[in-house]
Formats: sequence, C-alpha cells, structure tokens
Amino acid sequence: MARNAVQFQKGLSEPEFERRYGTEEQCREAVIAARWPQGFQCPGCGSQRHSMVTTRDLFQCSDCRLQTSPIAGTIFASTKLPLRTWFRALYHMTQSKQGISSIELGRRLGVTQTTAWNIKHKLAQVMLERDASKQLTRRVEIDDAYVGGEHTGGKRGRGAEGKTPFVAAVETSDDGKPVRIKLRRVTSFCTHAIASFAKTSLAPDCTVVSDGLRCFGGVTEAGCSHQVVVTGSGPVAARTPAFKWANTALGNIKASITGTYRAISTQHVPRYLAEFEYRFNRRYDLAAMIPRLTWAGVRTPPMPYRLLKLAEIHA
Ligand SMILES: [Zn+2]
Repeated sequence: MARNAVQFQKGLSEPEFERRYGTEEQCREAVIAARWPQGFQCPGCGSQRHSMVTTRDLFQCSDCRLQTSPIAGTIFASTKLPLRTWFRALYHMTQSKQGISSIELGRRLGVTQTTAWNIKHKLAQVMLERDASKQLTRRVEIDDAYVGGEHTGGKRGRGAEGKTPFVAAVETSDDGKPVRIKLRRVTSFCTHAIASFAKTSLAPDCTVVSDGLRCFGGVTEAGCSHQVVVTGSGPVAARTPAFKWANTALGNIKASITGTYRAISTQHVPRYLAEFEYRFNRRYDLAAMIPRLTWAGVRTPPMPYRLLKLAEIHA
C-alpha cells in the first residue's frame, strides 16, 4: 500500500518546539519578526528609528515618541497571558490532527478551562479570517451536512432541529486528489444561501460536482458550472467516486468533532469548522503552521471580548 504523505510526515516534535519557542523571549522575538519583517516601523508616523523602553516591553519611536507594544492591536493583546502560553496553544491546536478540547488544552497549558477556551477561540478566529478570502478553483465536490444533534456530519432528511447546516466543498486535482477544502455554515440549504457561499468561496471558473440537491444549482449564480451526479442514497452513494473526497472529509470531521467535543453551539460552529479546514489545507507542512499563524495573528485585531463573553462554555 502506498504510504500516506500526511500520515507519515513529521510534525514538529515537542522537544523541537521547546527549542524554538520554549522561552518568553523566543516567542516575543517570533512575534516581532512576524509583525515587522523589515524591522520596526512606527504605527504612528512610519519611522524606523526607535529605542527600547527600559523593560524591553515597548518600542519608542525616535521621531514622534509614540510607544508601541509588539502585541498591541493583535490577537495576542487581549489577555495578560505570557506569549509562551499562546505559542503552546498554537502548538497543540495545529499539531493534533483531531483538534483539542478546551478542557484538554487548559490541562496542558496549566490554565483554567475558561482561559483555554478564550485562547482557542481567538486562534480559531485567526484561522477563520485567514482562509476566508481564498477561493477554491477548478473541480470542486460539494456536499451538505450538519453539525450538532445526534447526526454530526450526517446527511439531510433527518430533521434539522438543534443542528447547524454547513457546506463541505473539496477542490480536487486533475488526478483526483483533494487539494483544499472549505467548510462553511449556511443559514439553510436554499439556492440563495448556496449562491452566496459560491460567490465568496468559489472561483467563477469552477466546475462544481454535486448530487443534485436542488439548492446546489445556486452555484451557477456565481458563474460556476454545475455538474450533477446522481448517487441514490445509502451505502451506494458513499462509494460513488465523484464524492469520494467530500465524503472522506465529512467522515473525518465527524470523527474529530464527536471524538473531541461534547457539544457545539451554533454561534461557534464557524470557528470549529475553520480549525479543521485550516489544518487540512496545510496538512503537508505541519511545522510551518506555527510561524504562519503567528504572522496571521499579528495581523488580526483583538477579538471583541463581548463575543467571547456571550459564549457559553461547551467544549
Ligand atoms: Zn513615530
């Protein structure tokens, strides 16, 4: 059997992670390098001339005297936690294939579950925003699914009560391999919702392959062509090669969510899906996810605290 490139690739080992990000100073340097790749630049006047304020916590502009913290205005700014804790969270969230619950994350970081939940959702927000603008291209398999209730990842027609509908779209290469996925919450499976999903998430030159659920015709409103493959239902449908990857991705999500989380409330679904999507789309380079997320994190504003405060603690 062919070796699976994802399964056998080496992630970042814990000792290697400790070597690169083990101290507060190393994490701080990583944040500074991500924020100002060409060296410090004053957010006030653009000057590069600066000095450090005593404790090295602040950069002071030599021209306008503005003092700037490297984490000000970034996702890392909104807590008093050491950066080292944030980087450990980045490690656990990116290197575990199935995701990590906030209970488990809290245990590993030595913080309360509430704190872990906050960190996790802020980093998931970074993942969500990072992938939002990248459209799928070429051939795309599309399928409908639900999170929540008893049938996570299950098919339609079982009643949608307490469940959150989402679209799973998988871009496949010419030789039929999955390239990237999009997992997006939709209001419902109606033509309008699918058209809106397609305009945001799919390039207009896509050929979209679906099982013919009526709403998927909505992709043509975004300029995509739509190809229907009738699958029937039950085990036969699951074996239809046209949907091999959409089905595989949904299966993995189901395993991930039911294995890791007890319950997910609707308002948080986009971030759980974003975590899965982010990891899947970068699965060939696990180690690079930490610097890449750091780069994105310093370009993501602190998440509004009220959003997290409103949130119930679920997983
Ligand atoms: Zn300045």
